[in-house]
Amino acid sequence: ETQKETLGFQTEVKQLLHLMIHSLYSNKEIFLRELISNASDASEKLRFEALNNDALYEGDTDLDIRIEFDKDAGTVTIEDRGIGMNRQDVIEHLGTIAKSGTAGFLSSLTGDQAKDSQLIGQFGVGFYSAFIVAQRVDVYTRRAGEAAENGVHWSSTGEGDFTIANIDKAQRGTRIVLKLKEGEEEFADGFRLRSLVRKYSDHISIPVKMLKEELPGSEEEGEEAQKAPELESVNSATALWTRSKSDLNDEEYQEFYKHISHDFADALTWSHNKVEGNLEYTSLLYVPENAPYDLWNREAPRGLKLYVQRVFIMDQADQFLPLYLRFIKGVVDSNNLSLNVSREILQKDPSVDKLRSALTKRVLDMLAKLAKNDADKYATFWKAFGQVMKEGPAEDMANRDKILKLLRFASTHSGTAEQNVSLEEYIGRMQEGQKKIYYVVADNFNTAKNSPHLEVFRKKGIEVLLLSDRIDEWMMSQLFDFDGHNFQDVTKGELDLGETESEEEKQKLEEVAKEHEGLIERLGKVLEDRVESVRITHRLTDSPACLVIGDYDMGLQMRRIMEAAGQ
Ligand code: ADP
Ligand code: MG
Repeated sequence: ETQKETLGFQTEVKQLLHLMIHSLYSNKEIFLRELISNASDASEKLRFEALNNDALYEGDTDLDIRIEFDKDAGTVTIEDRGIGMNRQDVIEHLGTIAKSGTAGFLSSLTGDQAKDSQLIGQFGVGFYSAFIVAQRVDVYTRRAGEAAENGVHWSSTGEGDFTIANIDKAQRGTRIVLKLKEGEEEFADGFRLRSLVRKYSDHISIPVKMLKEELPGSEEEGEEAQKAPELESVNSATALWTRSKSDLNDEEYQEFYKHISHDFADALTWSHNKVEGNLEYTSLLYVPENAPYDLWNREAPRGLKLYVQRVFIMDQADQFLPLYLRFIKGVVDSNNLSLNVSREILQKDPSVDKLRSALTKRVLDMLAKLAKNDADKYATFWKAFGQVMKEGPAEDMANRDKILKLLRFASTHSGTAEQNVSLEEYIGRMQEGQKKIYYVVADNFNTAKNSPHLEVFRKKGIEVLLLSDRIDEWMMSQLFDFDGHNFQDVTKGELDLGETESEEEKQKLEEVAKEHEGLIERLGKVLEDRVESVRITHRLTDSPACLVIGDYDMGLQMRRIMEAAGQ
Protein backbone atom coordinates (compact mmCIF):
# COMPACT_ATOMS: atom_id res chain seq x y z
CA GLU A 1 0.00 0.00 0.00
CA THR A 2 1.26 3.48 -0.86
CA GLN A 3 0.15 7.04 -0.19
CA LYS A 4 -1.76 6.01 2.87
CA GLU A 5 -3.66 8.78 4.65
CA THR A 6 -6.31 9.13 7.31
CA LEU A 7 -9.27 11.41 6.69
CA GLY A 8 -12.20 12.44 8.87
CA PHE A 9 -15.78 11.78 7.84
CA GLN A 10 -17.67 14.92 6.98
CA THR A 11 -19.67 16.13 10.01
CA GLU A 12 -23.08 15.22 8.67
CA VAL A 13 -21.86 11.83 7.48
CA LYS A 14 -20.57 11.24 10.99
CA GLN A 15 -23.95 12.08 12.49
CA LEU A 16 -25.73 9.87 9.99
CA LEU A 17 -23.44 6.94 10.73
CA HIS A 18 -23.95 7.29 14.44
CA LEU A 19 -27.70 7.46 14.05
CA MET A 20 -27.87 4.50 11.75
CA ILE A 21 -25.73 2.25 13.84
CA HIS A 22 -27.80 3.02 16.91
CA SER A 23 -31.34 3.07 15.59
CA LEU A 24 -31.57 0.44 12.88
CA TYR A 25 -31.04 -2.52 15.15
CA SER A 26 -34.37 -4.07 14.19
CA ASN A 27 -33.73 -4.23 10.46
CA LYS A 28 -30.07 -5.14 10.24
CA GLU A 29 -30.28 -7.42 7.25
CA ILE A 30 -30.97 -4.56 4.82
CA PHE A 31 -27.22 -3.90 4.61
CA LEU A 32 -27.04 -6.69 2.04
CA ARG A 33 -29.79 -5.17 -0.08
CA GLU A 34 -27.99 -1.81 -0.05
CA LEU A 35 -24.57 -3.23 -0.98
CA ILE A 36 -26.01 -5.43 -3.74
CA SER A 37 -28.00 -2.46 -4.96
CA ASN A 38 -24.79 -0.41 -5.23
CA ALA A 39 -23.01 -3.27 -6.98
CA SER A 40 -25.87 -3.47 -9.45
CA ASP A 41 -25.87 0.31 -9.99
CA ALA A 42 -22.11 0.18 -10.63
CA SER A 43 -22.55 -2.64 -13.16
CA GLU A 44 -25.32 -0.77 -14.95
CA LYS A 45 -23.19 2.38 -15.03
CA LEU A 46 -20.36 0.46 -16.65
CA ARG A 47 -22.71 -0.93 -19.27
CA PHE A 48 -23.98 2.58 -19.97
CA GLU A 49 -20.55 4.22 -20.23
CA ALA A 50 -19.27 1.36 -22.35
CA LEU A 51 -21.89 2.14 -25.00
CA ASN A 52 -19.55 4.93 -26.11
CA ASN A 53 -16.29 3.42 -24.90
CA ASP A 54 -15.98 -0.31 -25.33
CA ALA A 55 -12.48 -0.31 -23.84
CA LEU A 56 -13.98 0.04 -20.36
CA TYR A 57 -14.81 -3.67 -20.46
CA GLU A 58 -11.08 -4.46 -20.60
CA GLY A 59 -11.92 -7.48 -22.75
CA ASP A 60 -14.28 -8.93 -20.15
CA THR A 61 -17.96 -8.19 -20.72
CA ASP A 62 -19.23 -10.49 -17.95
CA LEU A 63 -20.97 -8.52 -15.26
CA ASP A 64 -21.88 -10.35 -12.13
CA ILE A 65 -21.97 -9.84 -8.41
CA ARG A 66 -20.34 -12.38 -6.14
CA ILE A 67 -20.99 -13.00 -2.51
CA GLU A 68 -18.60 -14.97 -0.34
CA PHE A 69 -18.35 -15.62 3.35
CA ASP A 70 -15.89 -17.02 5.84
CA LYS A 71 -17.44 -18.42 8.96
CA ASP A 72 -14.16 -18.72 10.86
CA ALA A 73 -12.97 -15.21 10.06
CA GLY A 74 -16.47 -13.78 10.51
CA THR A 75 -16.48 -11.96 7.16
CA VAL A 76 -18.89 -11.39 4.30
CA THR A 77 -17.62 -10.16 0.92
CA ILE A 78 -19.59 -8.50 -1.88
CA GLU A 79 -17.76 -8.09 -5.16
CA ASP A 80 -18.80 -6.54 -8.45
CA ARG A 81 -17.20 -5.99 -11.85
CA GLY A 82 -18.80 -2.64 -12.40
CA ILE A 83 -17.51 0.85 -12.99
CA GLY A 84 -15.41 0.99 -9.79
CA MET A 85 -13.97 4.13 -8.20
CA ASN A 86 -10.69 6.04 -8.31
CA ARG A 87 -9.10 7.65 -5.27
CA GLN A 88 -11.03 10.88 -5.65
CA ASP A 89 -14.36 9.04 -6.11
CA VAL A 90 -13.75 7.02 -2.97
CA ILE A 91 -12.88 10.05 -0.88
CA GLU A 92 -15.96 11.91 -2.04
CA HIS A 93 -18.57 9.16 -2.13
CA LEU A 94 -17.47 7.20 0.92
CA GLY A 95 -16.90 9.90 3.45
CA THR A 96 -16.34 13.53 2.67
CA ILE A 97 -19.36 14.63 0.69
CA ALA A 98 -22.74 14.16 2.27
CA LYS A 99 -25.57 13.18 -0.04
CA SER A 100 -27.64 16.18 -1.02
CA GLY A 101 -30.39 16.69 1.50
CA THR A 102 -28.49 15.17 4.42
CA ALA A 103 -28.66 18.38 6.44
CA GLY A 104 -32.38 18.73 5.78
CA PHE A 105 -32.87 15.14 6.72
CA LEU A 106 -30.96 15.44 9.98
CA SER A 107 -32.93 18.53 10.97
CA SER A 108 -36.22 16.73 10.38
CA LEU A 109 -35.44 14.07 12.98
CA THR A 110 -37.72 14.01 15.97
CA GLY A 111 -35.73 12.12 18.58
CA ASP A 112 -38.43 9.47 18.66
CA GLN A 113 -36.56 6.30 17.66
CA ALA A 114 -39.43 4.56 15.93
CA LYS A 115 -40.29 7.59 13.83
CA ASP A 116 -36.67 8.37 13.08
CA SER A 117 -35.83 4.91 11.85
CA GLN A 118 -38.75 5.30 9.42
CA LEU A 119 -37.20 8.55 8.26
CA ILE A 120 -33.80 7.01 7.80
CA GLY A 121 -35.48 4.43 5.63
CA GLN A 122 -36.94 7.11 3.41
CA PHE A 123 -33.66 8.92 3.22
CA GLY A 124 -31.92 5.81 1.94
CA VAL A 125 -29.21 4.39 4.15
CA GLY A 126 -26.96 3.21 1.33
CA PHE A 127 -23.34 2.22 1.73
CA TYR A 128 -23.06 3.22 5.39
CA SER A 129 -25.59 0.55 6.36
CA ALA A 130 -22.62 -1.82 6.21
CA PHE A 131 -21.73 -0.52 9.68
CA ILE A 132 -24.96 -1.81 11.13
CA VAL A 133 -23.42 -5.29 11.17
CA ALA A 134 -19.71 -4.67 10.57
CA GLN A 135 -17.05 -3.59 13.06
CA ARG A 136 -14.74 -2.82 10.15
CA VAL A 137 -15.40 -2.32 6.44
CA ASP A 138 -12.70 -2.65 3.77
CA VAL A 139 -13.32 -1.48 0.23
CA TYR A 140 -10.95 -2.50 -2.59
CA THR A 141 -11.78 -0.85 -5.86
CA ARG A 142 -10.48 0.20 -9.24
CA ARG A 143 -12.16 2.34 -11.85
CA ALA A 144 -12.82 0.55 -15.17
CA GLY A 145 -10.33 1.54 -17.88
CA GLU A 146 -7.58 2.67 -15.46
CA ALA A 147 -4.27 0.89 -14.86
CA ALA A 148 -4.06 -1.89 -12.24
CA GLU A 149 -1.83 0.26 -9.97
CA ASN A 150 -4.61 2.83 -9.63
CA GLY A 151 -6.52 0.60 -7.26
CA VAL A 152 -7.66 2.03 -3.94
CA HIS A 153 -8.11 0.54 -0.47
CA TRP A 154 -10.53 2.28 1.91
CA SER A 155 -10.92 1.09 5.47
CA SER A 156 -12.93 2.26 8.45
CA THR A 157 -14.57 1.24 11.68
CA GLY A 158 -17.23 3.86 11.13
CA GLU A 159 -16.16 5.96 14.10
CA GLY A 160 -15.06 9.33 12.83
CA ASP A 161 -12.36 8.60 10.29
CA PHE A 162 -11.21 6.32 7.52
CA THR A 163 -7.92 5.45 5.84
CA ILE A 164 -7.24 5.42 2.16
CA ALA A 165 -4.26 3.98 0.26
CA ASN A 166 -3.24 3.04 -3.27
CA ILE A 167 -3.05 -0.65 -4.16
CA ASP A 168 -2.66 -2.87 -7.22
CA LYS A 169 -5.94 -4.34 -8.36
CA ALA A 170 -6.01 -6.42 -11.55
CA GLN A 171 -9.77 -6.81 -11.67
CA ARG A 172 -11.88 -3.70 -12.34
CA GLY A 173 -14.77 -3.01 -9.97
CA THR A 174 -15.31 -3.08 -6.24
CA ARG A 175 -14.82 -5.64 -3.50
CA ILE A 176 -16.26 -4.89 -0.09
CA VAL A 177 -15.28 -6.96 2.92
CA LEU A 178 -17.30 -6.73 6.12
CA LYS A 179 -15.70 -7.89 9.34
CA LEU A 180 -18.82 -8.71 11.32
CA LYS A 181 -19.40 -7.40 14.81
CA GLU A 182 -19.52 -9.79 17.68
CA GLY A 183 -23.03 -11.15 17.77
CA GLU A 184 -23.64 -10.65 14.05
CA GLU A 185 -21.75 -13.75 12.90
CA GLU A 186 -25.02 -15.33 11.79
CA PHE A 187 -24.66 -13.42 8.52
CA ALA A 188 -21.53 -15.40 7.58
CA ASP A 189 -23.71 -18.28 6.56
CA GLY A 190 -24.59 -19.61 3.12
CA PHE A 191 -28.19 -20.40 3.86
CA ARG A 192 -28.84 -17.01 5.47
CA LEU A 193 -27.15 -15.07 2.69
CA ARG A 194 -28.95 -17.01 -0.05
CA SER A 195 -32.30 -16.40 1.52
CA LEU A 196 -31.55 -12.66 1.92
CA VAL A 197 -30.49 -12.38 -1.72
CA ARG A 198 -33.72 -14.04 -2.82
CA LYS A 199 -35.76 -11.90 -0.48
CA TYR A 200 -34.24 -8.53 -1.33
CA SER A 201 -32.40 -8.80 -4.62
CA ASP A 202 -34.18 -11.34 -6.77
CA HIS A 203 -35.25 -8.67 -9.27
CA ILE A 204 -31.74 -7.26 -9.83
CA SER A 205 -30.97 -7.78 -13.50
CA ILE A 206 -27.30 -8.64 -12.82
CA PRO A 207 -26.73 -12.24 -11.63
CA VAL A 208 -25.79 -12.54 -7.97
CA LYS A 209 -23.56 -15.62 -7.62
CA MET A 210 -22.40 -17.73 -4.72
CA LEU A 211 -20.32 -20.88 -4.48
CA LYS A 212 -22.35 -24.05 -4.68
CA GLU A 213 -22.47 -25.70 -1.31
CA GLU A 214 -22.38 -29.47 -1.10
CA LEU A 215 -25.01 -30.82 1.18
CA PRO A 216 -23.32 -32.65 4.08
CA GLY A 217 -22.88 -36.33 3.24
CA SER A 218 -23.32 -35.87 -0.47
CA GLU A 219 -19.62 -35.41 -1.22
CA GLU A 220 -18.40 -37.74 -3.91
CA GLU A 221 -15.20 -39.67 -3.78
CA GLY A 222 -12.18 -39.43 -6.04
CA GLU A 223 -11.84 -37.07 -8.96
CA GLU A 224 -15.14 -35.29 -8.41
CA ALA A 225 -14.03 -34.02 -5.02
CA GLN A 226 -10.94 -32.38 -6.57
CA LYS A 227 -13.01 -30.10 -8.81
CA ALA A 228 -12.97 -26.40 -8.03
CA PRO A 229 -16.26 -25.37 -6.42
CA GLU A 230 -18.74 -24.00 -8.92
CA LEU A 231 -20.54 -20.68 -8.86
CA GLU A 232 -24.30 -20.58 -9.17
CA SER A 233 -26.78 -17.76 -9.63
CA VAL A 234 -28.89 -17.16 -6.56
CA ASN A 235 -31.33 -14.61 -8.00
CA SER A 236 -33.45 -14.85 -11.11
CA ALA A 237 -31.45 -11.99 -12.70
CA THR A 238 -34.08 -10.62 -15.05
CA ALA A 239 -35.18 -7.02 -14.70
CA LEU A 240 -38.49 -7.27 -12.89
CA TRP A 241 -40.45 -4.94 -15.15
CA THR A 242 -39.61 -7.06 -18.21
CA ARG A 243 -41.36 -10.06 -16.68
CA SER A 244 -45.04 -10.57 -17.30
CA LYS A 245 -47.57 -9.50 -14.68
CA SER A 246 -48.95 -13.00 -14.26
CA ASP A 247 -45.43 -14.12 -13.39
CA LEU A 248 -45.05 -11.74 -10.47
CA ASN A 249 -46.53 -11.72 -7.00
CA ASP A 250 -47.16 -8.81 -4.66
CA GLU A 251 -44.09 -9.56 -2.58
CA GLU A 252 -41.83 -9.30 -5.61
CA TYR A 253 -43.39 -6.02 -6.62
CA GLN A 254 -42.93 -4.68 -3.07
CA GLU A 255 -39.27 -5.70 -2.91
CA PHE A 256 -38.62 -4.01 -6.22
CA TYR A 257 -40.34 -0.90 -4.89
CA LYS A 258 -38.00 -0.84 -1.90
CA HIS A 259 -35.01 -1.32 -4.18
CA ILE A 260 -35.82 1.71 -6.30
CA SER A 261 -37.28 3.96 -3.60
CA HIS A 262 -35.12 3.07 -0.56
CA ASP A 263 -38.39 3.18 1.38
CA PHE A 264 -38.78 0.82 4.33
CA ALA A 265 -42.55 0.69 4.07
CA ASP A 266 -44.56 -1.10 1.40
CA ALA A 267 -45.98 0.79 -1.55
CA LEU A 268 -49.70 1.56 -1.45
CA THR A 269 -50.37 0.45 -5.01
CA TRP A 270 -48.68 0.17 -8.40
CA SER A 271 -49.35 -0.02 -12.10
CA HIS A 272 -47.29 -2.17 -14.47
CA ASN A 273 -47.80 -1.75 -18.20
CA LYS A 274 -46.26 -2.87 -21.44
CA VAL A 275 -47.20 -0.82 -24.46
CA GLU A 276 -46.39 -1.73 -28.05
CA GLY A 277 -46.89 0.16 -31.28
CA ASN A 278 -45.74 3.65 -32.20
CA LEU A 279 -44.81 4.52 -28.68
CA GLU A 280 -43.14 1.49 -27.12
CA TYR A 281 -42.47 1.40 -23.45
CA THR A 282 -42.78 -0.54 -20.25
CA SER A 283 -43.58 1.33 -17.10
CA LEU A 284 -43.87 0.31 -13.48
CA LEU A 285 -45.18 3.14 -11.32
CA TYR A 286 -45.68 3.08 -7.56
CA VAL A 287 -47.59 5.22 -5.09
CA PRO A 288 -45.75 5.31 -1.73
CA GLU A 289 -47.68 5.06 1.49
CA ASN A 290 -45.93 7.92 3.28
CA ALA A 291 -44.92 11.37 2.18
CA PRO A 292 -41.13 11.79 2.11
CA TYR A 293 -39.73 14.32 4.58
CA ASP A 294 -38.72 16.55 1.67
CA LEU A 295 -41.99 16.55 -0.28
CA TRP A 296 -42.12 20.35 -0.12
CA ASN A 297 -38.50 20.93 -0.98
CA ARG A 298 -38.33 22.11 -4.58
CA GLU A 299 -34.80 20.75 -4.92
CA ALA A 300 -35.69 17.30 -3.60
CA PRO A 301 -34.82 14.47 -5.97
CA ARG A 302 -37.77 13.22 -7.96
CA GLY A 303 -38.51 11.43 -11.20
CA LEU A 304 -38.32 7.94 -12.57
CA LYS A 305 -35.49 5.56 -13.26
CA LEU A 306 -34.98 5.66 -17.01
CA TYR A 307 -33.94 2.62 -19.05
CA VAL A 308 -33.64 2.41 -22.83
CA GLN A 309 -33.97 -1.10 -24.19
CA ARG A 310 -33.26 -2.46 -20.74
CA VAL A 311 -30.02 -0.51 -20.36
CA PHE A 312 -29.98 1.78 -17.35
CA ILE A 313 -29.65 5.43 -18.47
CA MET A 314 -30.30 7.64 -15.44
CA ASP A 315 -31.94 8.06 -12.07
CA GLN A 316 -34.35 10.90 -11.33
CA ALA A 317 -35.44 11.47 -14.90
CA ASP A 318 -37.97 14.16 -14.00
CA GLN A 319 -39.22 14.86 -17.53
CA PHE A 320 -41.68 12.00 -17.47
CA LEU A 321 -44.19 13.25 -14.92
CA PRO A 322 -45.59 16.66 -13.98
CA LEU A 323 -44.56 18.32 -10.73
CA TYR A 324 -47.79 17.54 -8.91
CA LEU A 325 -47.05 13.82 -9.35
CA ARG A 326 -43.51 14.17 -7.98
CA PHE A 327 -44.19 11.59 -5.25
CA ILE A 328 -44.52 8.74 -7.78
CA LYS A 329 -41.62 6.26 -7.85
CA GLY A 330 -40.88 3.88 -10.65
CA VAL A 331 -39.20 2.82 -13.82
CA VAL A 332 -39.78 3.63 -17.45
CA ASP A 333 -38.07 1.55 -20.11
CA SER A 334 -38.53 2.93 -23.60
CA ASN A 335 -37.63 1.69 -27.06
CA ASN A 336 -38.28 5.08 -28.63
CA LEU A 337 -35.29 6.87 -27.14
CA SER A 338 -31.74 6.47 -28.29
CA LEU A 339 -29.21 4.73 -26.06
CA ASN A 340 -26.99 7.77 -25.86
CA VAL A 341 -29.74 10.05 -24.69
CA SER A 342 -28.74 12.72 -22.15
CA ARG A 343 -30.71 15.09 -19.96
CA GLU A 344 -30.25 17.82 -22.57
CA ILE A 345 -31.51 15.61 -25.39
CA LEU A 346 -34.46 14.50 -23.29
CA GLN A 347 -35.67 18.08 -23.15
CA LYS A 348 -35.99 18.25 -26.91
CA ASP A 349 -37.03 14.73 -27.85
CA PRO A 350 -40.70 14.76 -28.95
CA SER A 351 -41.28 11.20 -27.74
CA VAL A 352 -40.56 12.43 -24.19
CA ASP A 353 -43.73 14.55 -24.33
CA LYS A 354 -45.74 11.59 -25.54
CA LEU A 355 -44.33 9.39 -22.81
CA ARG A 356 -45.03 12.07 -20.24
CA SER A 357 -48.68 12.35 -21.17
CA ALA A 358 -49.06 8.56 -21.36
CA LEU A 359 -47.45 8.08 -17.93
CA THR A 360 -49.46 10.92 -16.40
CA LYS A 361 -52.67 9.21 -17.52
CA ARG A 362 -51.42 5.92 -16.09
CA VAL A 363 -50.91 7.52 -12.71
CA LEU A 364 -54.28 9.29 -12.72
CA ASP A 365 -56.02 6.06 -13.74
CA MET A 366 -54.19 4.13 -11.05
CA LEU A 367 -55.35 6.66 -8.45
CA ALA A 368 -58.93 6.58 -9.74
CA LYS A 369 -58.88 2.81 -9.48
CA LEU A 370 -57.52 2.97 -5.95
CA ALA A 371 -60.26 5.43 -4.97
CA LYS A 372 -62.90 3.14 -6.40
CA ASN A 373 -61.62 -0.15 -5.02
CA ASP A 374 -60.11 0.68 -1.66
CA ALA A 375 -61.46 3.69 0.23
CA ASP A 376 -59.12 3.15 3.20
CA LYS A 377 -56.00 3.10 1.08
CA TYR A 378 -57.24 6.10 -0.85
CA ALA A 379 -57.74 7.99 2.41
CA THR A 380 -54.13 7.14 3.34
CA PHE A 381 -52.99 8.38 -0.03
CA TRP A 382 -55.00 11.58 0.30
CA LYS A 383 -53.59 12.36 3.76
CA ALA A 384 -50.04 11.96 2.48
CA PHE A 385 -50.30 13.58 -0.95
CA GLY A 386 -53.64 15.41 -1.21
CA GLN A 387 -52.07 18.84 -0.88
CA VAL A 388 -49.69 18.11 -3.74
CA MET A 389 -52.54 16.85 -5.90
CA LYS A 390 -54.20 20.22 -5.40
CA GLU A 391 -51.42 21.76 -7.52
CA GLY A 392 -52.68 19.56 -10.36
CA PRO A 393 -55.70 21.39 -11.79
CA ALA A 394 -53.61 24.51 -12.46
CA GLU A 395 -50.51 22.69 -13.68
CA ASP A 396 -52.21 20.16 -15.93
CA MET A 397 -55.15 21.66 -17.81
CA ALA A 398 -55.42 18.67 -20.15
CA ASN A 399 -56.27 16.35 -17.26
CA ARG A 400 -58.21 18.82 -15.15
CA ASP A 401 -61.41 16.79 -14.96
CA LYS A 402 -59.59 13.60 -14.05
CA ILE A 403 -57.72 15.44 -11.31
CA LEU A 404 -60.85 17.16 -9.99
CA LYS A 405 -62.46 13.75 -9.59
CA LEU A 406 -59.55 12.69 -7.41
CA LEU A 407 -59.80 15.64 -5.02
CA ARG A 408 -61.33 15.16 -1.58
CA PHE A 409 -62.80 17.83 0.69
CA ALA A 410 -64.15 18.33 4.16
CA SER A 411 -67.76 19.49 3.99
CA THR A 412 -70.76 20.44 6.07
CA HIS A 413 -72.22 17.03 5.22
CA SER A 414 -70.19 15.25 7.90
CA GLY A 415 -68.97 18.42 9.60
CA THR A 416 -65.65 16.76 10.46
CA ALA A 417 -62.21 17.92 9.35
CA GLU A 418 -61.60 14.72 7.44
CA GLN A 419 -61.22 15.36 3.70
CA ASN A 420 -63.26 12.57 2.19
CA VAL A 421 -65.96 14.12 -0.01
CA SER A 422 -65.48 13.94 -3.78
CA LEU A 423 -67.05 16.45 -6.16
CA GLU A 424 -69.08 13.65 -7.69
CA GLU A 425 -70.53 12.77 -4.29
CA TYR A 426 -71.24 16.43 -3.66
CA ILE A 427 -73.16 16.72 -6.92
CA GLY A 428 -75.04 13.54 -6.11
CA ARG A 429 -76.32 15.21 -2.91
CA MET A 430 -77.27 18.56 -4.46
CA GLN A 431 -80.70 19.94 -3.55
CA GLU A 432 -83.31 20.14 -6.23
CA GLY A 433 -82.69 23.26 -8.29
CA GLN A 434 -79.16 23.76 -6.90
CA LYS A 435 -76.80 24.69 -9.71
CA LYS A 436 -73.55 25.63 -8.02
CA ILE A 437 -70.92 23.94 -5.95
CA TYR A 438 -70.62 26.06 -2.79
CA TYR A 439 -67.46 26.38 -0.75
CA VAL A 440 -65.92 28.51 1.96
CA VAL A 441 -62.18 29.07 2.50
CA ALA A 442 -60.65 29.94 5.86
CA ASP A 443 -57.35 29.76 7.74
CA ASN A 444 -58.36 26.66 9.60
CA PHE A 445 -61.10 24.11 9.66
CA ASN A 446 -62.98 25.51 12.67
CA THR A 447 -63.16 28.99 11.24
CA ALA A 448 -64.48 27.56 7.99
CA LYS A 449 -67.01 25.41 9.77
CA ASN A 450 -68.28 28.25 11.96
CA SER A 451 -68.45 30.84 9.23
CA PRO A 452 -71.64 32.95 9.58
CA HIS A 453 -72.00 32.66 5.81
CA LEU A 454 -73.06 29.06 6.23
CA GLU A 455 -76.26 29.79 8.15
CA VAL A 456 -78.63 29.95 5.23
CA PHE A 457 -77.06 26.85 3.68
CA ARG A 458 -77.63 24.90 6.89
CA LYS A 459 -81.21 26.07 6.94
CA LYS A 460 -81.77 24.91 3.41
CA GLY A 461 -79.77 21.71 3.80
CA ILE A 462 -77.30 22.71 1.10
CA GLU A 463 -73.86 21.17 1.47
CA VAL A 464 -70.83 23.50 1.51
CA LEU A 465 -67.21 22.42 1.03
CA LEU A 466 -65.02 23.55 3.94
CA LEU A 467 -61.55 24.46 2.68
CA SER A 468 -58.66 25.31 4.97
CA ASP A 469 -55.42 24.06 3.41
CA ARG A 470 -52.88 26.73 2.54
CA ILE A 471 -53.18 26.01 -1.14
CA ASP A 472 -57.00 26.03 -1.25
CA GLU A 473 -57.77 29.63 -2.06
CA TRP A 474 -55.17 29.69 -4.80
CA MET A 475 -56.49 26.43 -6.21
CA MET A 476 -60.10 27.63 -6.20
CA SER A 477 -59.06 30.80 -7.96
CA GLN A 478 -57.95 28.57 -10.85
CA LEU A 479 -61.19 26.61 -11.03
CA PHE A 480 -64.33 27.58 -12.81
CA ASP A 481 -66.60 24.59 -12.97
CA PHE A 482 -66.88 20.86 -12.65
CA ASP A 483 -69.32 18.75 -14.62
CA GLY A 484 -71.31 21.83 -15.66
CA HIS A 485 -71.57 23.26 -12.14
CA ASN A 486 -69.82 26.52 -11.29
CA PHE A 487 -67.85 26.86 -8.10
CA GLN A 488 -69.17 29.61 -5.81
CA ASP A 489 -67.43 31.09 -2.77
CA VAL A 490 -70.25 31.64 -0.27
CA THR A 491 -68.58 34.79 1.06
CA LYS A 492 -68.56 36.49 -2.33
CA GLY A 493 -71.17 38.62 -4.07
CA GLU A 494 -74.92 38.32 -4.20
CA LEU A 495 -76.05 34.98 -3.01
CA ASP A 496 -77.90 33.24 -5.77
CA LEU A 497 -79.24 30.00 -4.45
CA GLY A 498 -80.61 29.09 -7.87
CA GLU A 499 -83.99 27.53 -7.94
CA THR A 500 -83.72 26.32 -4.39
CA GLU A 501 -85.53 29.56 -3.51
CA SER A 502 -89.26 29.52 -3.97
CA GLU A 503 -91.15 32.44 -5.50
CA GLU A 504 -92.66 32.96 -2.10
CA GLU A 505 -89.24 33.43 -0.48
CA LYS A 506 -88.14 35.87 -3.14
CA GLN A 507 -91.27 37.89 -2.72
CA LYS A 508 -90.86 37.97 1.02
CA LEU A 509 -87.31 39.25 0.66
CA GLU A 510 -88.48 42.05 -1.58
CA GLU A 511 -91.17 43.04 0.92
CA VAL A 512 -88.69 43.09 3.78
CA ALA A 513 -86.34 45.20 1.67
CA LYS A 514 -89.06 47.72 0.96
CA GLU A 515 -90.09 47.89 4.60
CA HIS A 516 -86.51 48.68 5.69
CA GLU A 517 -85.54 50.97 2.84
CA GLY A 518 -84.94 53.84 5.25
CA LEU A 519 -82.70 51.86 7.56
CA ILE A 520 -80.61 50.50 4.70
CA GLU A 521 -80.09 53.98 3.35
CA ARG A 522 -79.00 55.34 6.73
CA LEU A 523 -76.60 52.40 7.29
CA GLY A 524 -75.17 52.93 3.86
CA LYS A 525 -74.41 56.56 4.71
CA VAL A 526 -72.81 55.75 8.05
CA LEU A 527 -70.59 53.00 6.61
CA GLU A 528 -69.91 54.84 3.38
CA ASP A 529 -66.11 54.79 3.69
CA ARG A 530 -65.91 51.23 4.85
CA VAL A 531 -68.16 49.18 2.61
CA GLU A 532 -69.34 49.31 -0.94
CA SER A 533 -73.00 48.75 -0.26
CA VAL A 534 -75.49 47.59 2.37
CA ARG A 535 -78.28 45.21 1.50
CA ILE A 536 -80.93 43.01 3.04
CA THR A 537 -80.03 39.36 2.95
CA HIS A 538 -81.35 35.94 3.73
CA ARG A 539 -77.78 34.68 4.01
CA LEU A 540 -78.07 34.82 7.78
CA THR A 541 -80.47 33.20 10.13
CA ASP A 542 -78.87 33.83 13.54
CA SER A 543 -76.21 36.51 13.08
CA PRO A 544 -77.57 40.06 12.51
CA ALA A 545 -75.00 41.07 9.88
CA CYS A 546 -71.97 39.88 7.94
CA LEU A 547 -69.33 41.18 5.54
CA VAL A 548 -69.51 40.01 1.95
CA ILE A 549 -66.82 40.34 -0.66
CA GLY A 550 -67.41 41.34 -4.26
CA ASP A 551 -67.45 38.51 -6.82
CA TYR A 552 -64.20 39.55 -8.39
CA ASP A 553 -62.41 40.71 -5.24
CA MET A 554 -59.61 38.86 -3.60
CA GLY A 555 -60.68 36.32 -1.02
CA LEU A 556 -60.17 37.08 2.67
CA GLN A 557 -57.42 34.51 3.10
CA MET A 558 -55.54 35.84 0.10
CA ARG A 559 -55.94 39.39 1.45
CA ARG A 560 -54.37 38.36 4.71
CA ILE A 561 -51.47 36.69 2.91
CA MET A 562 -50.90 39.85 0.85
CA GLU A 563 -51.15 42.02 3.94
CA ALA A 564 -48.63 39.85 5.77
CA ALA A 565 -46.32 40.22 2.78
CA GLY A 566 -46.61 44.00 3.15
CA GLN A 567 -48.86 44.63 0.14
P1 ADP B 1 -26.56 5.90 -3.41
O1 ADP B 1 -26.44 4.47 -3.89
O2 ADP B 1 -27.97 6.27 -3.07
O3 ADP B 1 -25.89 6.87 -4.32
P2 ADP B 1 -24.84 4.96 -1.35
O4 ADP B 1 -24.55 5.45 0.02
O5 ADP B 1 -25.39 3.58 -1.44
O6 ADP B 1 -25.79 6.00 -2.02
O7 ADP B 1 -23.52 5.02 -2.21
C1 ADP B 1 -22.79 6.22 -2.29
C2 ADP B 1 -21.95 6.29 -3.55
O8 ADP B 1 -20.78 5.47 -3.45
C3 ADP B 1 -22.63 5.80 -4.80
O9 ADP B 1 -23.45 6.80 -5.37
C4 ADP B 1 -21.44 5.44 -5.69
O10 ADP B 1 -20.95 6.61 -6.32
C5 ADP B 1 -20.43 4.96 -4.70
N1 ADP B 1 -20.45 3.48 -4.61
C6 ADP B 1 -20.95 2.75 -3.60
N2 ADP B 1 -20.80 1.42 -3.86
C7 ADP B 1 -20.19 1.33 -5.06
C8 ADP B 1 -19.76 0.24 -5.89
N3 ADP B 1 -19.94 -1.03 -5.53
N4 ADP B 1 -19.14 0.54 -7.06
C9 ADP B 1 -18.94 1.83 -7.43
N5 ADP B 1 -19.33 2.90 -6.70
C10 ADP B 1 -19.95 2.66 -5.54
MG1 MG C 1 -26.94 2.85 -2.82
